[in-house]
Amino acid sequence: MTEIEYKLYIDNVIRRVETARLKVSNHHIVKIVAVSKYSTCQEIEALYKIGQRAFGENKVQDLKEKANEMNDLPLEWHFIGNLQKNKINNLLDIRPALFQALDSLELAYELQKKLVSREMSLDVLLQINSAKEESKHGVMPESACGIYKQIQEECPNINLKGVMSIGAHTDNKEIIQKSFETTHTIFKQLEGATICSMGMSGDFELAIECGSNMVRLGSIMFNK
Ligand SMILES: *Cc1c(COP(=O)(O)O)cnc(C)c1O
Repeated sequence: MTEIEYKLYIDNVIRRVETARLKVSNHHIVKIVAVSKYSTCQEIEALYKIGQRAFGENKVQDLKEKANEMNDLPLEWHFIGNLQKNKINNLLDIRPALFQALDSLELAYELQKKLVSREMSLDVLLQINSAKEESKHGVMPESACGIYKQIQEECPNINLKGVMSIGAHTDNKEIIQKSFETTHTIFKQLEGATICSMGMSGDFELAIECGSNMVRLGSIMFNK
């Protein structure tokens, strides 16, 4: 694809996001995070050139390498993957704009300790395993509100901004929709929460219609 063809291609993705968000309301603004985990720095730069600023990675090592290699560009990096305790320091070295996948109280306590020792804070989303799938990380929907509050009270260096979910892994649209609705219902109950991150390349329109205001788009943004 030439640069112009790529821009037209991305315009169409943006139009799809627009159409979905306008079904919710004129005032429902949706942010696109381009998930670059299958993409090279050249491909990230091509997307940057046509206006994209927020990028997400799901492995700390990959995030570190790409963020370092591209540090001359004003990119906003999101970490969207599972964080192992022994990688917390590596993640904090990069100072990501948003860590989207805090998935337990235990990890919150570890993160809090490391943040205190560095005298820094971090914007974070609580990941919810809304379809209760064994293969997925995240807190169970019924305990999400309690854990969220507990982190707010006990981890002052963690700035909770909202929630993140991966849609149910199935072709059944109703089940996927239900998983998004579960997360959005929790989101609405949380004090001060502003980000509801749901929706990937295959289900972002449905996620937006269910109230998502942040979509994490990988394959579709990089035309893979
Ligand atoms: C890979 C990934 C995405 C993007 O997936 P696509 O289907 O390529 O859009 C979004 N969120 C998370 C947590 C991911 O790991």
